[in-house]
Amino acid sequence: MQGLMQRTPLLLSSLITHAAANHAGTEIVSQTVEGPIARSTWGEVAERAGKLAGALRRLGVGEGDRVATLAWNTSRHLELYFGVTGIGAVLHTVNPRLFLPQIEYMLRHAEDSYVFFDIGFAEIIAEVAPNVPSLRGLIALTDRAHMPSLALPNLLCYEDLLGAESDAHPWPTLDENAASILCYTSGTTGNPKGVLYSHRALLLHSFCAAAADGLAVSCLDSGLLVVPLFHANAWGVPFAAAMVGAKLVLPGPRLDGASLFSLMQTERCTFAAGVPTVWFGFFDYIDRNRAALDLTTIRLDRVLCGGSAAPRALIKRFDEEFGAFLLHAWGMTETSPIATLGRLLPKHIGLDREARYDIQAKQGRPVYGVEIRVVDAEGRPLPRDGRSVGALMVRGPWVTAGYFKGEGGVVIDAEHWFNTGDVATMDEDGYVTLTDRAKDIIKSGGEWISSIELENAAVGHPDVLEAAAIGVAHPKWVERPLLLIRCKEGAVLDKATMLDFLADKVARWWLPDDVIVVEELPHTATGKLSKVTLRKAYANHLAP
Ligand code: ADP
Repeated sequence: MQGLMQRTPLLLSSLITHAAANHAGTEIVSQTVEGPIARSTWGEVAERAGKLAGALRRLGVGEGDRVATLAWNTSRHLELYFGVTGIGAVLHTVNPRLFLPQIEYMLRHAEDSYVFFDIGFAEIIAEVAPNVPSLRGLIALTDRAHMPSLALPNLLCYEDLLGAESDAHPWPTLDENAASILCYTSGTTGNPKGVLYSHRALLLHSFCAAAADGLAVSCLDSGLLVVPLFHANAWGVPFAAAMVGAKLVLPGPRLDGASLFSLMQTERCTFAAGVPTVWFGFFDYIDRNRAALDLTTIRLDRVLCGGSAAPRALIKRFDEEFGAFLLHAWGMTETSPIATLGRLLPKHIGLDREARYDIQAKQGRPVYGVEIRVVDAEGRPLPRDGRSVGALMVRGPWVTAGYFKGEGGVVIDAEHWFNTGDVATMDEDGYVTLTDRAKDIIKSGGEWISSIELENAAVGHPDVLEAAAIGVAHPKWVERPLLLIRCKEGAVLDKATMLDFLADKVARWWLPDDVIVVEELPHTATGKLSKVTLRKAYANHLAP
């Protein structure tokens, strides 16, 4: 017997329609690429997304056509999130920090029809656009006065396009399983692979992101969205914010500590979302300017943090400086991305702070919608004992079923489990602790050393800003750990001090064979430590 409820498809357009109808006046604040702070509202974003839809149709964009963006977090990019997907076209968010050949590869692979770009990326566009045959036009995300002078055909101005449109039309009813957003994983090895999200997947993911045991976002919130709109749907926060009518604060190109602090202060942000690297910079700024800053003006209540491990030291700082709860999340582009969240259980209430930080430093428990298990080399589930290390497998309605155009072949097994390439333990409460990406594990004499655990321990030292642990070839042990550390400004550290500090924090045989202080550590385009670069640079460091 069938139920008798309406079969309303789960579409992203329903979010912006809802926000416009019920939270029209709620602000969307952007640090623009042009310079000033711009103020919009959910009502205006909805209206302009509607006009954009009209403009796209006039440009000949239809259902399934890919439309790329090369842009920072601003209200214009947010309009594209809704305007492009709302008509059934596919928004392809490109990470502008990638190398030119990678950007070109992705535009060609996606067969993008148009690219909407921030004027700061005009040079990238000038380089790559002529090599992408599918491109029909390039739209600068700015007004007439700020148009870049590019000698390219079919260059259009975003504000002119929108200005030519009259009232918006209703959003079409699409198949909820139709593609909505395309996002390539940065592909540290091999070519980037496209993850193609459906409307249904992202809408269900929004409920998860907004829920009380998720980010607990509401219309009373003002959220600083530091995680880029080109990085796994900005972790779904834009959609969750539209769902509940939260205010959004978009930092544009300015991700430095001073700019983030200032926005947090003036816009009274109650939550923020960003990768650990961003927050290291934020606290570095606070450390260097403490006397001039009034931290009591910050209203921050919680910070969604993931993408790489949030060290305990960071969790502690957010708590001590702001009383803010760092909500540690694990996920990947392939999981939309939220898969686990570090919320507390009733039994943790009343724990002293230090014990609570230990819980928060784990990557969290599975959210409803993503099934998770840790398996051994034969694919058998391992006990949930917090000790058994194995491959982390996921499945669920917002987990990928395969990459765009079949790249990478079949990526899920017969029971739909997707192997994440991460290695982890799970404890009896379901908290996952990520020990490594499979390829980053340090394999010493047949045993595994967790690079993440070493790094987390190292950044616990008050003089350390960032740390990277890698396995380097060793004549006896196959691999041994090498620790690279970047110190805070003015701090001096040597190997002996660091080893001494680590001595009671990790097993004796985990202690790095060498510790090197470096000026800078390399990062990938998504803000993770680039271990590939480090492994190459230090490959022979422990050679006899
Ligand atoms: P990219 O590889 O393009 O940077 P993703 O954002 O998809 O893209 O990266 C996902 C990976 O990031 C995960 O597989 C995992 O290795 C790592 N990661 C994500 N969240 C965490 C976390 N909280 N702790 C440790 N590693 C994390």
